Amino acid sequence: MDTPLWQLKKQMAQIGHRIWQKGFCAGNEGNHSVRISEDRVLCTPTGISKGFLEADDMCIVDMDGNQVEPNPKGRKRTSEVLVHLAVYKKRPDVKAVIHSHPPHATAFAIAQIPLPEGIHPEAEVFLGKVRTAPYATPSKPELPDSIIPLIGPETNTVLMANHGSLSFSFDLTDTYYKLEILDAYCRVLLLTKQLGSVKQLDQKQMTDLLEVKKNFGLPDERLSCAPTGCVGSENQPFLASFPVNPTTASCDCDGGVTSTSEGNFEAMVQAITDQIVTSMGR
Ligand SMILES: [Zn+2]
Repeated sequence: MDTPLWQLKKQMAQIGHRIWQKGFCAGNEGNHSVRISEDRVLCTPTGISKGFLEADDMCIVDMDGNQVEPNPKGRKRTSEVLVHLAVYKKRPDVKAVIHSHPPHATAFAIAQIPLPEGIHPEAEVFLGKVRTAPYATPSKPELPDSIIPLIGPETNTVLMANHGSLSFSFDLTDTYYKLEILDAYCRVLLLTKQLGSVKQLDQKQMTDLLEVKKNFGLPDERLSCAPTGCVGSENQPFLASFPVNPTTASCDCDGGVTSTSEGNFEAMVQAITDQIVTSMGR
């Protein structure tokens, strides 16, 4: 029984336990899969908590989602396997997919606030740019249709509006790490929000970080726009929600926010000086 396929099924059950223990899925939520060949995918069954999964609960489907081998326990494949299959078809390099409802990341998906960029090295290197797909009804064909256009060659994580997350990578363990890093990052962002202050990496820090990422064998298209471009300039609602303070000022590069900006700080000092001078002259 200890075949490579059985080992993979056991690993899927173990990852399910981790997902459940971390509180990423309540009840029977969530699903994950592994691509085992050109036209076969191993996936979790429908209607079972990820915390109770056993190796022989896993189902095997073809690339159209048809269950091609009877499950020994009579399990039926997850209805969301069509989302997984769409990812595998778009990205042949992807070998594992996890759909989950990690609470901190799902909060951002529900608020429909894009994840900010240039905040945390771990998130930048291991997740990169994370986009949010428009809301689509679960289990309907609209769901994969909403997500697939957002998946580029470097994408490994997509948020699903008002729903949850989709993580994918070259194996199941790495895919699980993406999920953990995503929720840890979102949790840190929410804690930062409570503290009331945020500092974004400046262009040089971000460029250096993306260079390191490149040296890890992880290219990032945003490196090509640094240092002149403003990394994540279109993803600013989270950063813009903080009160402005002297160390968090708008930069002049397309509406982004930088940690410090000498020019802006001087301009602010000048503006205050002008106000004082004006009021003294009254
Ligand atoms: Zn879901």
